[in-house]
Amino acid sequence: MPQKTTAGQSPDYTLLENELTCSVGHIGSTAYEAGRGVWNKQARHRSPLAVVRPTGTQDVARTLRWAGKEGLRVSARSGGHSFDGFPVQPDTLLVDLSLLDDASLDNEGVAHLQPGARVQRLAEAFSPKGRALPTGDCGTVAMGGLLSGGGFGYASRKLGLTIDSVAEATIVTGGGDIIRASRSHQPDLFWAAVGGGGTAGIATEFLIRSFPVEKVTGFGLGFKWQSAHEIVAAYQDLLMAAPAELDLKLKIRSTGPDRFLDVNSCGPEGCTSGEPFVHVDGQFHGTKEDAETLLAPLLNNPALNQVVIREESYFEAMIDLIPVPSLNEAAPDNVRPLRVASDFVARKLSPDQIDAFVEFVEAVQYSPDFWGGCALLEPADIAVCSRATSDTAFPHRNAFLLAQWEMIHPVEVTDDVMTRLDQLLGRLRTRLSSAITGGRYLNYADQLDTPQNWWGENANRLAETAATYDPNRILVSRLHPL
Ligand SMILES: Cc1cc2nc3c(=O)[nH]c(=O)nc-3n(C[C@H](O)[C@H](O)[C@H](O)COP(=O)(O)OP(=O)(O)OC[C@H]3O[C@@H](n4cnc5c(N)ncnc54)[C@H](O)[C@@H]3O)c2cc1C
Repeated sequence: MPQKTTAGQSPDYTLLENELTCSVGHIGSTAYEAGRGVWNKQARHRSPLAVVRPTGTQDVARTLRWAGKEGLRVSARSGGHSFDGFPVQPDTLLVDLSLLDDASLDNEGVAHLQPGARVQRLAEAFSPKGRALPTGDCGTVAMGGLLSGGGFGYASRKLGLTIDSVAEATIVTGGGDIIRASRSHQPDLFWAAVGGGGTAGIATEFLIRSFPVEKVTGFGLGFKWQSAHEIVAAYQDLLMAAPAELDLKLKIRSTGPDRFLDVNSCGPEGCTSGEPFVHVDGQFHGTKEDAETLLAPLLNNPALNQVVIREESYFEAMIDLIPVPSLNEAAPDNVRPLRVASDFVARKLSPDQIDAFVEFVEAVQYSPDFWGGCALLEPADIAVCSRATSDTAFPHRNAFLLAQWEMIHPVEVTDDVMTRLDQLLGRLRTRLSSAITGGRYLNYADQLDTPQNWWGENANRLAETAATYDPNRILVSRLHPL
């Protein structure tokens, strides 16, 4: 069935195809299916008009110019890990950058990366050279999307977000111009490219400063569910006192067949099926001995039922913590549709707020409507807060923690279930209100969020920058959705 442009005519793809070095994937083709893969199963039924899979920056520029003339809107995808499958939208042209995945390191230790380069492959390539990038910790996430929102990982407390290490970005603006932007050249475009959600242009290359790393101490600690409250309290206390070299996440997560990422069906050893469990994992940039000293309050807790702690390469630590089944898929088949939301937390959660945190996971235990979920805390302090709010489009430079709320639901989710999840989040946020900032993380975007939540006082500047570089709103972004 021919698809219509916003002007009501069918786009003439032959004109575009004549200009590109790549083919255009039409509905039903292998390229179309490969290019629209996303993590969230629920979004997999959405059908873009067609999928362009560029092999270079010029392909992206030509596509945007052509789309502008045809009156089509364009969405960008790199690794497909958007939690709500945002890049895949009906009635848009999808530019899938996953084939642009080159990555190399120059003599100054600066990484030259394309947006489809995935986190695990970067760690694998750079770790033997004694270098690493401060990326997130999930291996299949791609740099295009990670840098569009920020980039939290196990080096964030020491080195800041991934965007904080970016020196330069090549951007194709909404109008189809190719611009190499940095802090000194087209600084507004650069500013919007690091944390601005792809609002002003599509990034096709990044220059990112790497850091030297030989060995790190990676660890994963499991605890009995009955001690969840106590472990959350101990986690916060430990983090408050810990040096920047120690970075650790706390997760309380449901067990059962529909859990999110873990490969086993029933949580860590010692876990009871049908009961949630508590897990703390992270990395220490230092020796195992020093890590054990710092982690003593958790290691000595009688609820501890699983310990893995070892010195290893940066790459080994990454794949130990989150084993990724396949880098080629947007998501393994056992991943269920899910909804993810977030809150930045400014101070330690009080005992009542810890109860609210724990009760959230109890509320999304396996039932006909909810299929499980997770509440996660990760640090957002020290180096992340060492920058000014206006330094990058990402504005959350005043928090202690980032909380992530994950809710797994059936594929055929009804409005009623979504409304109940809205209410659950609403009640949770009311109880946490004295601790949360009102800020939310763009890379964990949820349907209840607003641009104000993601960009705070930077929202107006971002809108002005988008108006300069994408005046006709060709790009589909969180600021200018469909
Ligand atoms: C399993 C899992 C683990 C995760 N772990 C972490 C983590 O440890 N730390 C963390 O910070 N986040 C994490 N995230 C969130 C992740 O950073 C975001 O979902 C990110 O946007 C994914 O990037 P992507 O390219 O894979 O996604 P995509 O779905 O391809 O892209 C997401 C959005 O990014 C924008 N975008 C993508 N490519 C470009 C481009 N080239 N130019 C401009 N804009 C672009 C678009 O707006 C697009 O809608 C995780 C997500 C998942 C699913």
